[in-house]
Amino acid sequence: MYREKARLYSAIMPTPKKSRVELYRRVYEKFQAPVSRFDCGRHCAPHNGGQPVCCDTGNAVPIVDKWEWQLLQSRSDLWRLFKPKSAVDRAIVADMHSECRAVECKGAAHCERDNRSLACRAFPFFPYITRERQILGLAGFWYFEDRCWVLSNLAVVTPQFVTECLEAYEAIFAEDPEEFDVNRRLSADMRGVFTKRNRIIPLIGRDGRYYAVEPRTHRLRPATTVEFGRHGPYKDEPVAAAAE
Ligand code: SF4
Ligand code: SF4
Repeated sequence: MYREKARLYSAIMPTPKKSRVELYRRVYEKFQAPVSRFDCGRHCAPHNGGQPVCCDTGNAVPIVDKWEWQLLQSRSDLWRLFKPKSAVDRAIVADMHSECRAVECKGAAHCERDNRSLACRAFPFFPYITRERQILGLAGFWYFEDRCWVLSNLAVVTPQFVTECLEAYEAIFAEDPEEFDVNRRLSADMRGVFTKRNRIIPLIGRDGRYYAVEPRTHRLRPATTVEFGRHGPYKDEPVAAAAE
């Protein structure tokens, strides 16, 4: 079982400046498309003690800002504040901005689709932003490549998901420029890591097509999913059928 904790959610949360409850309500209404036609948790859970990787706080602790937390509390009792169980957990909570909350749900067996956090809806993707501040599409949280089945099977991601995910983030960026900056920094981190590894960055463009960001030059070019490779326990599994 994997125990490494993700830094993604705490890393991407900005400082809220005004109430954004209504913003998150709108985002929840519009961003409902699942990442794929498959229940992808069936693919990763067998490698994670039976729990989908992204629904297990042993792997990733979702962080929401206080406005999203208010909204979630008003809609459901699915979520509660996360209780640190280890030094790593305590470090995650200590690193968090004071206006953010680490949360955990009741688990995959009790999931309520309408009451998933934005982090749940977007996982395992974030908007990829260039140095020139252009949003090119969706990139995956690379540090989950060894656990998340979707990141070894980008062909399953539906165009509807790509559209809704990008629109959700753009709605948030319009009210919260800091969120844009944090995702821009995350994209820059990814370029640094992939340049060191001499790997292309796999991207799903706004048009639903696949692209590669070349290491070092960061030039964008069309790509095929075969070039993206497969990772961890999924390396030798059959390739999943493409989304329609
Ligand atoms: S998004 Fe990835 S980690 Fe989450 S359930 Fe699907 S395959 Fe598993
Ligand atoms: S709300 Fe659903 S998708 Fe989100 S972590 Fe819980 S079980 Fe997973």
